[in-house]
Amino acid sequence: MSVFDRGFLFADAVYEVTAVIEGALVDFDAHQRRLERSLGELGIEFDGSAVDLRAIHRELLARNQLDEGLIYLQLTRGCADRSFVRPETATPSLVLFTQSMSLIDHADARRGLRVVTRPDLRWHRRDIKTTQLLYPSLMKSEAVAAGVDDVWMTEGGYVTEASSSNAHILTTDGRLITRPLSNDILHGITRAAVLEYARESGVTVEERPFTPAEALTAKEAFNTSATAFVTPVIELDGQAIGEGQPGEATARLRELYIDQSRARLTR
Ligand code: PLP
Repeated sequence: MSVFDRGFLFADAVYEVTAVIEGALVDFDAHQRRLERSLGELGIEFDGSAVDLRAIHRELLARNQLDEGLIYLQLTRGCADRSFVRPETATPSLVLFTQSMSLIDHADARRGLRVVTRPDLRWHRRDIKTTQLLYPSLMKSEAVAAGVDDVWMTEGGYVTEASSSNAHILTTDGRLITRPLSNDILHGITRAAVLEYARESGVTVEERPFTPAEALTAKEAFNTSATAFVTPVIELDGQAIGEGQPGEATARLRELYIDQSRARLTR
C-alpha cells in the first residue's frame, strides 16, 4: 500500500468482515450489498463488474484452507497527493485477508459479556462501514483495561450499539427490543438475519431505542456481529442483567442463527 493511499491518510475506506464456517461464507450477498451501499454513500467508484469478489473470496478460502474464521475486505478510494479535497479520479485499492478462529465454540458465548456505557462520540454516519474505528477501539480498550469486555455507547440517553456489534435486549415477556435502523448505527448484517429468524420463530420484535435503565430491567441482553453471531451480555455498568448469566432465550437465538446460516452458506 502506498503511503499516499487515502485509506491510510484519511480513513477514506470501507470494509466488510464476512464469517466463514465449514469453509464457506455466511451472509455473503448481504455483505456485498452493504459494501456497495457504503461505496455509494462515499462516492467511491469501484467497478464491481470488473472484479469478481465472490471468486476472490473463494480463492482466498481455498489458498488459506480456511475452515472457520473470517475474511476481511477493505476498499479505499485509492492514491492521490495529500489533500482534503478528494481526487476526482483514483483507482480504489482492494485488500483482503483471512483470519482463522473459532466462531461457533467461543468462550464469550459461554461466559457472557460485561459491558459499560460510554457516550457515543463517533461521527453521525455510522451506517457507512468506514475504517474510522479509532473511537470505538479506544473505548473498548478502556473497557478491557478496566476489567470488563466491551462498551455499549449511548446518545441522548439511549443505547446506540456496542464497539463493533449491535445491542439488543429481551424483555421478561419474551419481546426482542432493538434500535431501529438509521444513520445512528451500523446496519448489521447479523442483526437483520437474527431479526428475520426470530420473527419466523414467533418472537415479537420491537424496533425502538432503549435506555440502559430499561436494559437493567430486561431478562436477557445480547450483541450481534458477523464474528460474534449472538453473544450474551450479562452485566451493564456493574449491575447484572436478568440473572447475570447467559440465558436460554439468547442461547436459542444463537443456535437458530448458526443453524440457519449453515443452511444458507455460499460455497
Ligand atoms: N455495529 C458496529 C459499530 C460494527 O462495527 C459492527 C461490525 O463490525 C456491527 C455493528 C455488526 O455488524 P455485522 O453484523 O454486519 O457484522
